[in-house]
This record gives sequence, C-alpha cells and structure tokens, in this order.
Amino acid sequence: MKFIKVMKFGGGCFRDADGFKRAAGIIRKETACPAVVVSAAAGVTDDLEAGLKRAVKSEAGVGRTMRALRLRHERLASALLPTPEIRAGVLAEIDHRLIRLERLLRGAALIGEASPFTRAHILSYGERWAAHLLAGSLREKGLDARPLESEQIGLAADDSPEDATADLQAFQRAIKKNALGLEAGRFIPVITGFYGLDSRRRIASFGRNGSDYSAAVVAVALHAPTLEIWKDVDGFMTADPKRIPGAKPIARLSFGEAAELSYFGAKVLHPRTLEPISRRNGTIRIRHIFRPDRPGTEISAAGGVRPDVLKSVTHNDRLAILRVFGAGVGCKPGIIGIIGRSLADHGVNIISVITAQTVINVLVSESDGRRALKILRSIRGGVIARVELEEGLALVAAVGEGLSRRKGLAGRVFTAVAEAGVNVEIISSGASGVAAYFLVRKADALPAVQALHAEFFEQRRG
Ligand code: ASP
Ligand code: MG
Repeated sequence: MKFIKVMKFGGGCFRDADGFKRAAGIIRKETACPAVVVSAAAGVTDDLEAGLKRAVKSEAGVGRTMRALRLRHERLASALLPTPEIRAGVLAEIDHRLIRLERLLRGAALIGEASPFTRAHILSYGERWAAHLLAGSLREKGLDARPLESEQIGLAADDSPEDATADLQAFQRAIKKNALGLEAGRFIPVITGFYGLDSRRRIASFGRNGSDYSAAVVAVALHAPTLEIWKDVDGFMTADPKRIPGAKPIARLSFGEAAELSYFGAKVLHPRTLEPISRRNGTIRIRHIFRPDRPGTEISAAGGVRPDVLKSVTHNDRLAILRVFGAGVGCKPGIIGIIGRSLADHGVNIISVITAQTVINVLVSESDGRRALKILRSIRGGVIARVELEEGLALVAAVGEGLSRRKGLAGRVFTAVAEAGVNVEIISSGASGVAAYFLVRKADALPAVQALHAEFFEQRRG
C-alpha cells in the first residue's frame, strides 16, 4: 500500500495531553494510509533555546531546565498512556533523550558556547519526545504506530546548521537503503519534523517553525500526493482577523497566492513548504485541530475555482524604506546587485525592491532600517547620490490570481483605496502577477485594508 497522505501536527496542536489525544483520534479516523510528522509540544523548542542560552552563561541553570522538561513530558506520558507496558516503554525513550540532552547542555556550559550544529542538535529534542508520545497514544488506540527520528529515516539536508534545505535525492536513497518498510505502508510512521542530517550526519535544522517544510519533504519523498497540516488556526483568511473583524477563511488558494501571503507575513504556513509540493503538483490542506469539521484552506496548482477574484488583503507597517537616489540608478548595471550584496553581507534581509529610473526603494524590516541606512551610505562613489530612510510608510498587499488574468481587477483595487481617501505613495503592481503591492502612509494602512476588504469580501446591502 502506498502512502496517500502525510499528516503534520504543529506545536499548537500539542498544548496538553488533550491535544495529543485529539491528534491521535484524527489519525485513527483517517482512511487513507497516513504517515505522520510532528513538531515539538507547544513552547518546548523555546524552552530548549532559553535553556541553552542560560547554560552557556552558567551551569547552574541546567538542573532547572532539565527538571521542567522532564516534568512536562513525564506528565504527558502519564496522562496519555494508561497501559503500563506502553507507558514504561515511552518513558524509557523519553528518559534516554533527557539524559543525552543534559550532557549536551552541561558540555555547552563547560566550554561557555555552542556551535550552530550543537544548537540545532539541542533544539531537536522537542520533536523526538513528541514523536514518542504521539506514537504511544496511537498504540493505545490499537494502531501499529512507530516513532521515527530523522536519523533513522536518513532525512538528508545540506550543510547549513540552522537554515538547512533538504536533499531529496539523498533522502530517497536513504529510505530505500534503510529498509524500514516505510514505503510498504504497513505501519504508521510518526516522524520528527524540524531537522535532518547534513552530509557528515550532523543535525541541521530547517529553521524555527521549519517542520511544515520537513513534512512537505517527507510527503514528496514518500510520493504522497496530499499534505495535511493540522494547526490551531482555520487556515488562510481574507484579512488579519485581529484587525478586520469580518475576515473569513479562504477555501482555496493557488501556490502563487499562498506563497505571496506566506512570505508577506501571514504566519499560517512556513513559506518554504510550498516549493517541494508545488514542484510535484501535490495538494496542501490546512486544517484546524479544534474544528476538524471545517474545511480549512486547500492549496493546489488549480487554486481557486474562480480565478477572477481577490483572495486576501493584508498590510505590513513594521518596515522601513531606503530610498537610494542617483541620476543613473536606472541604467547603471549592477547597482541593485551591489545594494543587495552589501545588505546581505551584514545580515539584512530585503523584503522588496521597487525601482524607478532615478530612485531605488529598498524595503527592509523596521528593526533593520537604521543599520541598513549606515550600510548603504558607506557605499561610496558611483551613481548613488544620496540615501534616505523613510519610516512613515506601510506596505499593503492585495493577493489573487485574478490580478494578472482579469482586466480591471487592479483598477478596482486602486479605486476602492482612492474612494477611502487614501493616497497611494508608490505602486508595485504586476511584479508577480498574483499580487498588487503599494505603499501608503502608516496611518492610512488600516483604512486602505478596510476599504479593500469591504469592496471585495463584505456583502453590501441596500
Ligand atoms: N518546534 C520547532 C519550532 O518551534 C519547529 C516547528 O514548530 O515547526 O520552531
Ligand atoms: Mg513550533
């Protein structure tokens, strides 16, 4: 039997024992042959990170970190696993990993530092405990579930310790070689998310919140056409529900739309999750663990049934804009490369670039603004006449395949904004075909989003 589906459960699903039970119940009801990928229980990765930080300063805090992690996981095991043999087995596995973690933390305390690979290794423990707990509670329900850590299945990654990319071919070779019977689908594997192994078998993580991405990689490696991601949210929404009370869940999105929304900052899905699945033409479904009756959001190549509509409006007012002026910025080759490289060398991420012939607008996050200004001002000579920092603007995004396919939709977007009395400072429409981005004064951002949401998503009466 082949795997039809990979089911991934995020940390938000595992707040307490009840969350693990819910997940186990959902897996048991699944009729397709599932493989499961898990995140750490809620907050555990944060606790590991904080514990390591304390440890490198002083060994004194290690005991406290260990006691808290032990207590939490042992309590979960007692609440989840009433059968003595199952409970004892899982507790032994948990204990074994607690002991290893303690040695790592004390080692870091002793030398007063931790390399990025050591950090990744230490942060990987949450997923290990969660995999054992969930597999145990599936066994309580009579299912043949087996915890598998990334080491056992040979989940291969490149050599970047905390922002790794999976090596799919090496992973698929490892699955065949390891002969775990994974491909046969005879048991339910419960696989650790978040990390893989580099070419020297060191632990490399896919970055914070990276287990969505590892679930995508597992789905592709096992040829499962569907990736179901269970979270404690409804999926993507037509706007941020905290700011726009009328925001509604979105039933279907294309990969392009989901990518625009994820990279823009909707914290629903790790943006890198989309790439492996879209390349294989698979489907991602986002589901709400507390509301399994709701459909959630489905992301596929086909996307929305109606390509002519807007899907979501959103804004980011935590950004700064570097305005790089010079007579020839539009014609001098390589200028954007130089700007990009100098910022990247200092670890500043560029959110977007909007250019005209005499000015290049570089969007960075607000916290990077002043530093980016210094860096760009230090690029001497050439065509750059001056660099200014603008902190008063916000970026608004309207996302929908219709923006490229349907004439007049972008016009409707800007008319709605104008009718709300909002002045658009800079427009960057059409760059991706799926989104229209524009800059407004910070105070105008929410009114612009409200106007767009009302225009496209709220029934007007009368
Ligand atoms: N547990 C990891 C984190 O909190 C990975 C994940 O949740 O996706 O970053
Ligand atoms: Mg998490």
